[in-house]
Amino acid sequence: AIILGIESSCDETSASICIDGEIKANIIAGQAVHAKYGGVVPELASRAHQQNIIPTVDQAIAEAKIHKNEIDAVAFTRGPGLLGSLLVGTSFSKSFALALDIPLIEVNHMQAHILAHFIEDPKPQFPFLCLTVSGGHTQIVLVKNYFEMELLGETLDDAAGEAFDKTAKILDLPYPGGPLVDKHANLGNPDAFKLPEPQIPDLNFSFSGLKTAILYLVQAELKKNPNFLTERIDDLCASVQSRIVSILLNKLKKAAKETGVKEIAIAGGVSANSGLRESLIEMGKRYKWNVYIPKFEYCTDNAAMIAIAGYQKFLIKDFVGQDIAPLARMPV
Ligand code: ATP
Ligand code: MG
Ligand code: FE
Repeated sequence: AIILGIESSCDETSASICIDGEIKANIIAGQAVHAKYGGVVPELASRAHQQNIIPTVDQAIAEAKIHKNEIDAVAFTRGPGLLGSLLVGTSFSKSFALALDIPLIEVNHMQAHILAHFIEDPKPQFPFLCLTVSGGHTQIVLVKNYFEMELLGETLDDAAGEAFDKTAKILDLPYPGGPLVDKHANLGNPDAFKLPEPQIPDLNFSFSGLKTAILYLVQAELKKNPNFLTERIDDLCASVQSRIVSILLNKLKKAAKETGVKEIAIAGGVSANSGLRESLIEMGKRYKWNVYIPKFEYCTDNAAMIAIAGYQKFLIKDFVGQDIAPLARMPV
């Protein structure tokens, strides 16, 4: 079967073609327009999706070397995400399915981040634990089956990606700051600055205290030395990153211990972080886990993960009607 996957939940317009469970194209159009505002502007995102969606889909079809009429189903991100952005992908997918008279498949974006692990080998065995760390979410999920997932813990305030992006802003780095913090961190000393580890019960997370701690530290140091940021940027980034990673992995360790599960995966944009990837591999060796880390292109938003999730739903004929509407909020 040939599935067209469509992703438009935030600021990436993406289209993918999946043939019998294999990804043949994964086109991602980013949106540079948000950089000068220091964050995603919803109205501009939705407008850019409208401009990008048809060329992106055309490019995916061309790259997969298929004809539009060969597509068997359209899978799209129904939520969670920005409503105006989701509407563009949803409306496009509905018209496409209607015009070609093929089934329509809704996909949960957070489930899709997890199911990105089924794009290529090695694939995790069910049940597995997934730490999903992205721009809007931080979750520990027990994945029992393709679509049966139990939320074990989540952030009580900022997401891990937000923690990266907001501290980057405090450190005067341009948006989106996560990848830049990663880059500087590789050149710095993670023990240079002591940052607090929040005491949050259960498997939940909190990152807002960390953000405040960094803000106060930077403000105090800048009073003593106006060049503090430029002089110490590598050490600052290394210290912040190492704290975010330790907060994440300590909870993941707890979840593994409590559930007895040794199949451990990470997903979402922050799983591209080199510090997190390295520390997880180390931890996996220590605790004899089978660790699954997505390829870089499948960490941040992409339609390949939507197409692969859609393929699994296609196999069980889990289709939706033309009355389907996007949802800004949607549990995993
Ligand atoms: P959600 O999936 O929760 O709706 P989103 O789709 O916006 O949110 P993703 O595209 O999965 O999120 O991830 C984007 C986030 O990942 C941003 O916060 C970005 O800064 C962060 N990120 C990307 N690469 C890195 C990196 N190397 N280090 C740290 N953070 C990173
Ligand atoms: Mg994005
Ligand atoms: Fe995402």
